[in-house]
Amino acid sequence: MTGTARGPVAIVGAGYAGMAAAVALAARGVAVEVFEAGPVPGGRARRVRTRGRDYDNGQHLLVGAYRELLRLMGMVGVPERALLRCPLELRYLRGFALRALPLPAPLGLLGGLLLARGVPLGERIGALRFMRAMRAQRFRLREDQSVASLLAKHRQDGRIGHYLWVPLCVAALNIAAEQASANAFLAVLRDTLNGPPGASDLLLPRVDLSRLFPEPAAAFVEAHGGRVHLRSPVRDLTDLRSRFAQVIVAVGPHQLRTIVPALAFEVSYEPIYTVYLQYPDGVRLDRPMLGLDRGHVQWVFDRGWLAGEHGLIACVISAHGAHEALTHAALAECCARELGDAIPGLPAPRGSQVIAEKRATAACVPGAPRPDTRPALDGLYLAGDYTDPEYPPTLEAAVRSGLRAAQAVAEDRATARA
Ligand SMILES: Cc1cc2nc3c(=O)[nH]c(=O)nc-3n(C[C@H](O)[C@H](O)[C@H](O)COP(=O)(O)OP(=O)(O)OC[C@H]3O[C@@H](n4cnc5c(N)ncnc54)[C@H](O)[C@@H]3O)c2cc1C
Repeated sequence: MTGTARGPVAIVGAGYAGMAAAVALAARGVAVEVFEAGPVPGGRARRVRTRGRDYDNGQHLLVGAYRELLRLMGMVGVPERALLRCPLELRYLRGFALRALPLPAPLGLLGGLLLARGVPLGERIGALRFMRAMRAQRFRLREDQSVASLLAKHRQDGRIGHYLWVPLCVAALNIAAEQASANAFLAVLRDTLNGPPGASDLLLPRVDLSRLFPEPAAAFVEAHGGRVHLRSPVRDLTDLRSRFAQVIVAVGPHQLRTIVPALAFEVSYEPIYTVYLQYPDGVRLDRPMLGLDRGHVQWVFDRGWLAGEHGLIACVISAHGAHEALTHAALAECCARELGDAIPGLPAPRGSQVIAEKRATAACVPGAPRPDTRPALDGLYLAGDYTDPEYPPTLEAAVRSGLRAAQAVAEDRATARA
């Protein structure tokens, strides 16, 4: 590393990755300046204001295995009540229902599967055998392949695949099982269903996604002498690099092209649509989160349970699909119809808001590029969900990548000082 080993560090991007890096460096006493193009921090997990009302840019779900994100949230003072913690429960409005028992792995899943309904016992026992086989090979395949081919090989492609593995794959990796990386999927199974007690718990945000971590993180950074500049797009990295000896670039993969063309690569994305339907205030689901399996909608979240937004239901549709051909109005109607079919007596919604994130996550396929934290450019570091060596692009992958970049910066400063 050339230049000073003491000067401030610049971070481009105030998403979860950039803010994790900023918090980790600020906590070590390193001065940081964060430059964010948007008006609020959070990136692909942020609050958006539309037609005079705040929404999340997309409904998010965390799990107990998000160790590093939960640790950093505690560090910057986010109260535990910001998340609703529920034991893993996959309950469909019609059909399958599974609730993991509060026991250490593998007993929690074992008990849950034995008690589950909607799938024949033989298939439930087969699922346990599949988990045992994956555990024996440490949840890693020598040659990556698609989740669908892994499931077929282990005869997990029947009803258990339809209700359990495929929805878990689409929810965690945001891509169809036919294309999804089995190794990324297995990393998630290892850390959740096979993790310590609480790892498979579902954690539902009760505050908006900017308040959940990036804004308290920005306050923490500023309290430690750093700065977070919003509405400050970085157009020219050369200028930034002339002012800062160390720069962490924590932008989305397609945004690399404008900032560091030398590191750009071809990337294909998968979308996530969140269709908010506003029902009368008294409408309440009997669970905060429920699955649907016969149309476009995959999961519904009752925002009244979570954030006191009574009557607001968020319908989530992950990955590519036929829904992308519909207009927003037609899609909202379609979601309302699917919900109405599944919940007898549900009144018509009074309004809707569709948020289509067309570049929600880079396609998590076998062989997807996962660039190094330290590209071969002096003083430059990469962070972002797409750089994690094993996880699918998620909040936890983003946070871990930020921590890795902060660690690399700190190590290089120590080496330069020595
Ligand atoms: C709708 C949706 C639903 C999702 N659901 C889940 C979920 O349930 N669970 C989960 O774990 N994950 C989920 N994800 C994925 C998760 O949101 C992302 O993995 C994570 O937010 C990525 O964070 P990041 O910091 O790596 O990148 P980003 O959030 O993309 O942050 C990059 C930041 O850099 C800024 N930037 C870009 N260019 C510049 C520039 N030139 N100058 C300054 N700033 C710049 C951007 O504005 C942005 O704020 C979802 C994503 C979406 C879109």
